Amino acid sequence: MSEAGFTADQIDTSRPHPARMYDYYLGGQDNYEVDRAAAERVIQLLPDIKLAARENRSFLHRATKAVARRGIRQIIDIGTGIPTSPNTHEVARSITPDVRVAYVDNDPIVSAYAGAKLVNDGNAAFALADLRDPKAVLENPAISRLIDFEQPVALLLVAILHFIEDAADPGGIVRALTEPLPPGSCLVLSHGTLDFHDEKQIAAVREVYSRATASLTLRPRAEVAAYFDGFDVLDPPGLVQPPFWQPESPVPDDPELHGLGFYCGVGVKR
Ligand code: SAH
Repeated sequence: MSEAGFTADQIDTSRPHPARMYDYYLGGQDNYEVDRAAAERVIQLLPDIKLAARENRSFLHRATKAVARRGIRQIIDIGTGIPTSPNTHEVARSITPDVRVAYVDNDPIVSAYAGAKLVNDGNAAFALADLRDPKAVLENPAISRLIDFEQPVALLLVAILHFIEDAADPGGIVRALTEPLPPGSCLVLSHGTLDFHDEKQIAAVREVYSRATASLTLRPRAEVAAYFDGFDVLDPPGLVQPPFWQPESPVPDDPELHGLGFYCGVGVKR
């Protein structure tokens, strides 16, 4: 057991982990030399990645509040990431204190942190499961204990689907996860795109992630929009870059904000 409470076999420092690279972009401390080196390489290639990560995280917060304000009292947050305050359950509880949140991630290090920082009462739980096996996600005891599929659910897939390769059928995965949700449920989704950068830059970034524990598949707008099949996308603002999704204060007229390589949106199930 290390100081942070991990057993040695939970800490894979031989390859960069996307969760720890994202933590580094956000200015967190929960990353290792191998993650920092890979993240620094991405920052060199895509200097706006840190801003994109912060704006993505801020979208997660605003969208979580928005679904809580719609009266949704249960959330499945797949691709939790390393805990970064405020976390989904903290944001949701600021609106609806009795909200139940089931976190899912396939990274053992996220699981170890979740045990320490996210799951400390009966209304939040963590499941170590892989998005590529939606059946196992839905059948996980943490989900079945907290989530009542007769009541609307918010499913969060924030900055995770670009880690699912086409061969793993991300569209089929989203359908499998949303099929059991009743009408009025929400899909909160953000996804990396290459629509705002040139292909050469992106190819080099992809190369960095190809050596990480999950590779990167950035997708164009139409493919991201297709994940909302069966959902009415809240419009305004529709599917937009993170700074423009229901901003809480006027967005500065900064060209960098218009160049961030992410789409995000919230859909309501018909
Ligand atoms: N949703 C958070 C964190 C995004 S980082 C946010 O937007 O702020 C992406 C997370 O997805 C990482 O924690 C990574 O471990 C997780 N992830 C990547 N592929 C996954 C998979 N196949 N199954 C479950 N989690 C996965």
